[in-house]
Amino acid sequence: MPSYDIIIIGGGLIGSSVAYHLSKTGSKNIALLDIDLEGKYSSSELNAGGIRTLWWHDVNVELSKATISFLETDPQNFGFRQKGYLWLHDAKSWKTYQDHQGIFQKHQISIEELAVEDLKNRAPFLDKTDDLVGATYSAKDGIFNPNLLKQYFRSEAKKQGVSLIDGARVVDIGKKEKGLEIIYENLCVEQKKPNLEDVFGILAKAQEPHFQEKIKIKTDVLVNAAGAWAKNISRLYGHKIDCYPVRRQVSIFDCQGLDLSGQGMIVDSSGVYFHAEAKHILAGYATPNEPSGYNFKYDGDLFFEKEIWPRLYQRMTRAEALKHLTGWAGLYSVTPDRSGVMGCVDPKYKIYEAHSFTGRGAMQSYGVGLALSELITFRKYQSIDASALHPKRFHSAHGKLLYEGMHI
Ligand SMILES: Cc1cc2nc3c(=O)[nH]c(=O)nc-3n(C[C@H](O)[C@H](O)[C@H](O)COP(=O)(O)OP(=O)(O)OC[C@H]3O[C@@H](n4cnc5c(N)ncnc54)[C@H](O)[C@@H]3O)c2cc1C
Repeated sequence: MPSYDIIIIGGGLIGSSVAYHLSKTGSKNIALLDIDLEGKYSSSELNAGGIRTLWWHDVNVELSKATISFLETDPQNFGFRQKGYLWLHDAKSWKTYQDHQGIFQKHQISIEELAVEDLKNRAPFLDKTDDLVGATYSAKDGIFNPNLLKQYFRSEAKKQGVSLIDGARVVDIGKKEKGLEIIYENLCVEQKKPNLEDVFGILAKAQEPHFQEKIKIKTDVLVNAAGAWAKNISRLYGHKIDCYPVRRQVSIFDCQGLDLSGQGMIVDSSGVYFHAEAKHILAGYATPNEPSGYNFKYDGDLFFEKEIWPRLYQRMTRAEALKHLTGWAGLYSVTPDRSGVMGCVDPKYKIYEAHSFTGRGAMQSYGVGLALSELITFRKYQSIDASALHPKRFHSAHGKLLYEGMHI
């Protein structure tokens, strides 16, 4: 039976970053398993590419900061447009911002506070501002290309000898006398991939698809980085975790001459966020009361016309002409306090988890991989103390929740 020192389940940004960092710090004999390494349904392929340090908790700020510092080393290679986050505030959200200024100051995050009149210079197309009381601009934040970052993590990990195993759907995990036995179904029979709609569609209905070939492998250390599917993997080794998948949609539309290329991310007080995406504009909105589930259906014109367009038109006359082109839906994996999960959940069998980073897994991916690889290698956090993200916070009487209200 093939045997590895470390197996990572899930090859999205988080799993790929963990593989990259572990291999960089000298760990050997690592395998990274994924149902579909191309990531057609993975959140890492379906996000908006925003990156910022404005969060309410130290660990969330630090994980994002680490990723920003890394992107700054080679912005072009990662499509990093460091053009800031412009956050538009009504009276309620302005108060919330002010209540949390302490953490921004503590981490020396450069934030410019803007009066509503200042917006005329900063973003003249925002011409309907009567309901706003102010705005903030954080210049170090921006937009990047998560796919380029993921490819970088993987190619560097591969150079260090990490095995990337595609078409591997983990279905069972056994705790043995020595280490863990992982069983996966090989979906790439004769190098041919199955129809992913079938695989993910059937999984969404919680039925068991049956593929012929089951493969057993052994490992000393396991990392569960299966994103919105992580709780299904946790169940296989007897750990119950409070997280659930929720659909999030983004639209792409023709900008009709509205040039946002000089801007980074703009977050409106209504909750709509938007930025330039090649020649078009990308905008997203987290529909309240979206039911949990593995729903990848993009509602198309309906979503654009009901959720996106009216909010943009409330803010700028120029939105009148915007023309919906396309869009997509992906999953947030959400926890009760909207912060991610990472840490060792079974010291005896050396099982680690890193998942459920809601709408910030892309921007935290470098930091998460760095911190977790150090925890695995040195048995304690070194560069970033991420112990506050341990899932025991949801269960122990003294657990301190890290509620994040600035997620969009
Ligand atoms: C619309 C949208 C907008 C977003 N915008 C942003 C943003 O602007 N900035 C930001 O930072 N974040 C954003 N996010 C969130 C971000 O995309 C995620 O937090 C991040 O990609 C999670 O990465 P991951 O590696 O944990 O999960 P994923 O990328 O989903 O990877 C998990 C992998 O596990 C694999 N897997 C699952 N089950 C199994 C199994 N049984 N066996 C083997 N493999 C398995 C899957 O195939 C998948 O490839 C957004 C998300 C969405 C949906």
